[in-house]
Amino acid sequence: MATQNRQWILARRPAGEIKDGDLVFRTDPIPDPAKGEVVVKTEWLSLDPTNRIWMSDIPQYMPPVALGAPMRGLICGTVVKSASDSFVEGAAVMGLGTWSDYACVPAAMVSPVPDIKGLPRKDVFGQLYLVGPTAYFGLIDIGAPKIGETLVVSGAAGAVGSIAGQLGKALGCKTVGIAGGKEKCAALIRDFGFDHAIDYKNETIEQRLREICPEGIDIFFDNVGGEILNTLLAQMNLFGRIVQCGMISVYDSEGAGAAPSNYPLILMQRLKVQGFIVLDYAARYPEAFRALAKLRLEGKMNWHFHDIAGLENADNALRMLFKGQNAGKLIVKVAGPF
Ligand code: NDP
Repeated sequence: MATQNRQWILARRPAGEIKDGDLVFRTDPIPDPAKGEVVVKTEWLSLDPTNRIWMSDIPQYMPPVALGAPMRGLICGTVVKSASDSFVEGAAVMGLGTWSDYACVPAAMVSPVPDIKGLPRKDVFGQLYLVGPTAYFGLIDIGAPKIGETLVVSGAAGAVGSIAGQLGKALGCKTVGIAGGKEKCAALIRDFGFDHAIDYKNETIEQRLREICPEGIDIFFDNVGGEILNTLLAQMNLFGRIVQCGMISVYDSEGAGAAPSNYPLILMQRLKVQGFIVLDYAARYPEAFRALAKLRLEGKMNWHFHDIAGLENADNALRMLFKGQNAGKLIVKVAGPF
């Protein structure tokens, strides 16, 4: 077994965009697990917009990563050392780990990779573990779609957004996706079955929505926040629902920014606006796994991966999420077998 452990350490909290030196790549010995811990050899590392939140010390839903500590991330891999009764060496696990070749974590932070016949482990980890349940519970529990309603999704070509749009379509909604650039908008229609696409980088959202949705909008599944949220607030129907899933446009700005100028329309239109964190639904993950795996295996759910080779490239790859340079679920191949 190897003895060296390459890992990314949070050296400095980013000011604005992530810059060189915020994370540093260091080689340490592979740790020995303390009682109750396991060491996981990382095969896949998921890169997620929330990584940027964890790097900052704004008020958030779990403690920020400590300065000098390995960067936190979702991992999938194999237990190679165990000081826990929960896992034997060789167990395939996924969960909250670190950006390391070998992540030493409390056993309670990881769980066995569910064996879903017909689905590769990469799909189970990359699409079903975090992004799938986020789209599923956000849309179904908070969006509460009804047949014939109009659903708009921002960040629609991304990992969460593409699944939310397809679920909405499967549940009988008219679906409109907002994404950046011609190619992503083409993918919305071609690959993810949206009825309409709006290219926010080259079109005016407000005007396009008035053309496409003269009936108004019943559900807005928002991954972006900021100006796009403000624009949508002005076109929501009475008793509409806004699923506040993410706010990627403000993660680099160290806080939520100013309240949207259309905020009073929440009152006038009796809107329900609810934020959520997918961890709130952990007890119900199997329900989402089953529903999404079924759709996938029946050929009714498409998803894209954007693979990055090598742990050493994780830092630069994370920045791609904030520039729209990923086309699908961003994931790092750390060590085979793939
Ligand atoms: P994506 O695969 O959607 O990648 C992020 C995308 O966001 C980019 O590709 C880009 O798409 C878009 N984007 C980035 N910056 C901006 C900007 N300033 N304005 C508009 N769009 C922008 O990531 P995920 O699917 O993993 O995450 C999507 C959202 O869901 C994030 O906000 C994330 O925080 C949230 N999330 C929330 C969870 C929860 O529990 N509530 C759990 C998981 C994710 P484009 O090229 O179209 O601009």
